[in-house]
This record gives sequence, structure tokens and C-alpha cells, in this order.
Amino acid sequence: MSIAADSLTDRFGRRHTYLRISLTERCNLRCFYCMPAEGIELRPRQHFMRAAELLTIARTFTDMGVRKIRLTGGEPLVRSDAAEVILGLGQLPVELAITTNGVLVDRFVDTFRNAGIRSVNISVDTLQPDRMERITRRDHFHRIMANIRLLLDEGFHVKVNMVVMRGVNDDEVTDMVEWTRSEPLHIRFIEFMPFNGNLWEEDKGVSMSEMLARLTERFGVDRYERLIDRPNDTARNYRLSDGRGTFAFIAPVSEPFCSTCDRIRLTADGKLKNCLFDHGEADLLGILRSGGDIAPLIRQSIFAKHAVRGGLDTAERFADPVLHGRNRNMTTIGG
Ligand code: SAM
Ligand code: SF4
Repeated sequence: MSIAADSLTDRFGRRHTYLRISLTERCNLRCFYCMPAEGIELRPRQHFMRAAELLTIARTFTDMGVRKIRLTGGEPLVRSDAAEVILGLGQLPVELAITTNGVLVDRFVDTFRNAGIRSVNISVDTLQPDRMERITRRDHFHRIMANIRLLLDEGFHVKVNMVVMRGVNDDEVTDMVEWTRSEPLHIRFIEFMPFNGNLWEEDKGVSMSEMLARLTERFGVDRYERLIDRPNDTARNYRLSDGRGTFAFIAPVSEPFCSTCDRIRLTADGKLKNCLFDHGEADLLGILRSGGDIAPLIRQSIFAKHAVRGGLDTAERFADPVLHGRNRNMTTIGG
């Protein structure tokens, strides 16, 4: 192992080579499970990383051993200089990817290509226009679907993220899988996770085993198969035996995958979060602006990472609103 890679290793021996960067806290949708009903407090611009600062911090991470960067938010594409940032990051020696709600994708296809982005994740929680309007509190269903078509036609690898919630959209899991029969799409069923102000309740969660039981009922047990997951993959991957695409389950609530975690997060206001669920943060932007070296703080923060879900290691602690309420909401972390 090189010294550079070693510096992103925590006390449990996990190497962190995957950085998720939030480009902005703002968003053009209002998904109820992500944004609190009252919205988020909009802070002045100077609280957030400027393009040059973001690129400097990202370069420090790649010098230290990060090999993959995913852009997220908020909605990364609403940032006014999103194209400049994406193209700048495309110069770094990393695999670059993005997670977006898809609304503005048609304006960025060339930017993605020029930055070397090959894989795009789009959030689609339902295939029903009315229902999408209720979940996202906005009416962009047809635009999002047209942009998925565009990305497929342009040859991008497209993953679709669906947050599965009982009584909201869980009746569509089998329809989503059906979609992968005719299209080379990769659907990922994500368990609903608790964050500050997002109305999480344990009962709204649908476990992977329950979803698999429904698939067996609809398709028959011999019509889908388990695939081999890549190392550090948080998803358990499957496909229909005659499917062009795949589907997968991401189960941080019922089956945490912390022991192989290789992820860290940089918030839009320049804070390093060593875990999605840890309310602790390291202020990289503050150090950078005062002329300091951010590398020691990055090392310290990663070394101190908790073994499981930011210390919320039991189901009881994870479900405790006082404990998960100390964390930011999802749109200000960067999912
Ligand atoms: N705006 C972009 C989007 O929606 O894809 C990127 C940011 S969004 C916060 C990233 C991902 O987090 C989305 O796939 C979204 O569905 C997921 N997400 C947000 N809140 C969540 C929650 N409470 N539980 C599980 N996933 C959540
Ligand atoms: Fe916006 Fe994405 Fe959160 Fe929905 S999930 S409110 S699109 S940041």
C-alpha cells in the first residue's frame, strides 16, 4: 500500500478511496423524505466552496489516494457554475460520476461527456406522474423520464435510485424491476433512512427480504438471479433472467455495510463528514481559507471514524430521533 493511500485508512483498516462531493444544498425539487417541510435555511454564498476552493480540496483528496468522486447535493446541476466545476474535476485522476434528480440533465450531456462521466444516477421513486408530484412537490415527471431516455440513447450507464417507503411507493417495486426487462437500466432500491426533520418512521421501511418475496410472487423464484457484487459495493445486485438491466438493494438500515465502507463526504460548505450518519464534521474550508494545510485534518477525521453508522450501532440508537436528529438533513449533507 502506498503512503498516499495509507493516509486515508481508518483505525479499523478501511481505506477511503471514494469521495462524494455536494455541489450545493439547494434543489429544484422538494422530496418529502429529504427536505423538511419548512425547507432549508438558505445561507449567503460565502459560506460555500467557490469553484477554485472545491477543486483545491478535491485535488488534495486525490493526492491522498481518492480514486472515485461522485457529485451530489442538493441538486448538483442547479449550481450556476456546475459545468465549470464538473469539467475541472474531470481533469483529476479519478472516476467521476454524478447523482441527480434528472430535471436539468439535457443541458449537461456534453459537459458530462467532456468531463469523462460515463455513469449517471437518477432518482425516480415512482413511475406514476401524480405520485411523483406528491413525493417531490413539483411536476417534472415527463422531463425526468425524457432525460433518462436521452442518457440511454447517448450511451451512458444509467442507474435509477428509488427510496422505497411503505404505503408511499412500495407497491411499485415489481414494476420497477419489470422496467429492467426492456431497458438497460440499473434500478437500486434504497431503504428509507432517518435524518433531521424527514418524518422517518421505522414502519415505513421495507426490508430487502420483503421486496424479494414480492418479486418471487410476481416473477417466480427461478426468473431472477443473484449477481456477484463488486468489492465495497453497498448494493446486493440481481437481474431478471431475460432482463437487459439489473436491480439491486441498498439496505443501510436493516443490513448495514459499514465493515467494507470506503466512502467519505464533502459538504457544499466545505466540511468533511467521515460517515453519512455521523453528526461530527471537520471544517476543511475554514482551514483552507486561513491558509492552513487541510491534509492533517483529513487524516485525523478519517482515522477517528466510528465502526458502524457514526456510532448509531444498534437498531435502537439508529431509530432514536434525538440521536439521528443531531445530524444535518440529507439535502445539506449530500446523499
Ligand atoms: N438531488 C439529487 C438526487 O435526488 O438524486 C442528488 C442528491 S439526493 C440527496 C441523493 C440520493 O439520496 C437520492 O437518490 C435520494 O433519493 C436519496 N435520499 C434522500 N433522502 C433519503 C432518505 N431519507 N433515505 C434514503 N435515501 C435518501
Ligand atoms: Fe432534491 Fe434530491 Fe433531495 Fe429530492 S432527493 S429534494 S431531488 S436533493
